[in-house]
Amino acid sequence: MVEILIPEAEIHARVAELGRQIEADYQGKPLTIVAILTGSLILLADLIRTIQIPLRVALIQASSYKGATTTAGVLIINESFAPDVSGRDVLLLDDILDTGHTLATLVRRMADRGALSVRTAVLLQKVGRQEVKIEPDYRGFTIPDKFVVGYGLDYDDDYRHLPYVGVLNLEP
Ligand code: 5GP
Ligand code: MG
Repeated sequence: MVEILIPEAEIHARVAELGRQIEADYQGKPLTIVAILTGSLILLADLIRTIQIPLRVALIQASSYKGATTTAGVLIINESFAPDVSGRDVLLLDDILDTGHTLATLVRRMADRGALSVRTAVLLQKVGRQEVKIEPDYRGFTIPDKFVVGYGLDYDDDYRHLPYVGVLNLEP
């Protein structure tokens, strides 16, 4: 059972606001939005269509969950599609900031790859979960420490297609 936490219309309004901020901040800059697959897929598609300045899109895959669990495991990063970001202003895009390990690691990787600057944007940030000191530069919503699905976020690869963000209740 999934209980709606953030309705579709609220997500869309907030994503449009983030788009306007990003647009203002990156005027005249060589922006590359690097989306972290698979969770940020829907956010990426919605966000870039609210931004009217030139930008490039690139993808990196990272996962720290193994199948049907809601606790993080080893972080696996697949950079085989990773772009040439040298001389580019990189905006890393993820669905949710939880412990912070994923984003902190990828910020370092982008800097190592020669990015001019690296900032981060997330749709959601969970309160009281951070293990690594990292503040996202753009944040859609802060949410309580619950396991959420929908709008790209999965449980065992299901539920990504839900148009809202909801709390997954695994009790029968
Ligand atoms: P971090 O490295 O910050 O702990 O974890 C970030 C990643 O963990 C996110 O990109 C996301 O894939 C996954 N994650 C963290 N919390 C949740 C959650 O509540 N629901 C889902 N579906 N994934 C989560
Ligand atoms: Mg993810």
